Amino acid sequence: MKKHDVLIIGAGGAGLRAAVAAHEAGADVAMVTKLHPVRSHTGAAEGGINAALKDEDDWKDHAYDTVKGSDYIGDQDAIETMTEEAPNEVIRLENMGMAFSRTENGRMAQRAFGGLSFPRTTYASDKTGHMLLHTMYEQVMKRGITVYDEYFVTNVVRENGKCHGAVAVDIQTGEVEGFAGGATVLATGGSGQVFEHTTNAVACTGDGTSMAYRAGVPMEDMEFVQFHPTTLPSTGILITEGCRGEGGELYNNKGERFMYEYGYAANDGELASRDVVSRAELTEVQEGRGFEDGCVHLDLTHFGEEKIEERLSQILELARDFEDVDPVTEPIPVKPGQHYMMGGVACDANGATELDGLYAVGETACVSVHGANRLGGNALLELVVMGKLAGQHSANNHLTNVSTSAVEQAVDDERARIDELMSGGKEHQSVIRQDVQNVMTEKVNVFRAEEGLEEALEVIDEAKERYEDVNVKDSSKTFNTDLIQALELRSIIDCAETITIGALKRTESRGAHWRYEHQDRDDENWLKHTYVYHTEDGPEVKYEDVEIKDYKPKARSY
Ligand SMILES: Cc1cc2nc3c(=O)[nH]c(=O)nc-3n(C[C@H](O)[C@H](O)[C@H](O)COP(=O)(O)OP(=O)(O)OC[C@H]3O[C@@H](n4cnc5c(N)ncnc54)[C@H](O)[C@@H]3O)c2cc1C
Repeated sequence: MKKHDVLIIGAGGAGLRAAVAAHEAGADVAMVTKLHPVRSHTGAAEGGINAALKDEDDWKDHAYDTVKGSDYIGDQDAIETMTEEAPNEVIRLENMGMAFSRTENGRMAQRAFGGLSFPRTTYASDKTGHMLLHTMYEQVMKRGITVYDEYFVTNVVRENGKCHGAVAVDIQTGEVEGFAGGATVLATGGSGQVFEHTTNAVACTGDGTSMAYRAGVPMEDMEFVQFHPTTLPSTGILITEGCRGEGGELYNNKGERFMYEYGYAANDGELASRDVVSRAELTEVQEGRGFEDGCVHLDLTHFGEEKIEERLSQILELARDFEDVDPVTEPIPVKPGQHYMMGGVACDANGATELDGLYAVGETACVSVHGANRLGGNALLELVVMGKLAGQHSANNHLTNVSTSAVEQAVDDERARIDELMSGGKEHQSVIRQDVQNVMTEKVNVFRAEEGLEEALEVIDEAKERYEDVNVKDSSKTFNTDLIQALELRSIIDCAETITIGALKRTESRGAHWRYEHQDRDDENWLKHTYVYHTEDGPEVKYEDVEIKDYKPKARSY
């Protein structure tokens, strides 16, 4: 059995930043990850990271924009912590060697992003996440932090109200192994694979969220799922908001800039927050003003080739290679696609969960700094600010009396479960996965109705039963991706269920959550966080009031 003071599960931006901070605080740290660190999905982030760096800007304006973007359900203390720390953390990245784009006078360049009152999104061309991930991984290597890569963590180990580590399958050998840890930090990213049309990679299956849930920690605000307005219709690949930040325009089939023309966002137009733009696009399509495949057009042709090459070169390649469209000469067809989970493992600003010794950070966590709708550029920021705090806190507060026998027992239990999974079954895991993804994309999308949500819950309930007799065809031990996908399917089902239950019960429209039957925000009854608990008898839902500090709720317009 492997044993460390702090175990970080996941090696994307959040995990790497937490590992560096825990190591700097003097802990013996190890990372356990199903992918090699630089294959983590943080590498796909394109547009940038927010920080009030300039004299004319103020972190308090950044805080206000974030609270407004969250539709007043984000936790204001945590948002202030994040936005106040943002300049320090971004400058720290720069000092670590991250290659940010520059202005002509050599300062770090910043661009406009949706929902921001000041152009404060710092970027590295349209490859910001790639640069961040590689910079942070260098820091981990420099410190000699142990990285166990290609280990699929299946469970965290709970005994006597404490977390004692985790259990993982070594993907190379198929062996189940125990990891004892004084603190276990879940940094496993988002769960976009719950949906069929998503910007997220195949590895984003909500594993950490599901592990915490099954260990008794509540999932918070899962109903708030972000649908990004500009994804490619055929693949779901993201076309960054940076395109609109640089001046890209959205058109309907009548050649109208509908964001202004139909008053969806009379002031900010294309740069309204993402929930507003996604709803506007789908309304255009529903009212007959869209293009084929439920799309609208994103036009960058007025930029000229040089500007696109310089600031958005990846977009050029993605549109040409995956949609057969050349943004230099023609508009890009785009439509909303699942992009980000505002909800996740309930935790405080230090990442601490209800379970002693268990932490969560990054997209798998819900602090909550994004509330009902995240602003672009604030996720990468959360990774580094909250990553640092979680790393420091877990290093300083890890358990010293870790129960290795609890970990051993959990390894035996997991071996038995995997043997059972491999022993044959009725239906292949991919069929169940596809059914869940389809119903989530059809019924739990941008627009949600009671009937559709109930239908989705029925499909998910059946999927839970079907999973009991799931079939894994590949019986080999080495790199058995069929088995890994079957393990991921349980996470997908857990996330789908908690998203849909939260959405059905929240009888209002707020941020990214929009209900046909309840089209208004209802502050009187719903300034509340949703908490879904796993119980033997199925999910149990509780609510807690949102703490309002300086920023009182008011009508949200852009
Ligand atoms: C296409 C795209 C573009 C984006 N652009 C931006 C942007 O410009 N600005 C911004 O602020 N945000 C952006 N976001 C959001 C942001 O990139 C993500 O929220 C963030 O990178 C998630 O980081 P993370 O560290 O939480 O997770 P990830 O980077 O996804 O890392 C997860 C890690 O967990 C590991 N893992 C997962 N499950 C297991 C398991 N069972 N066992 C072991 N290891 C596991 C993986 O191997 C991986 O190392 C974008 C998102 C997408 C999809």
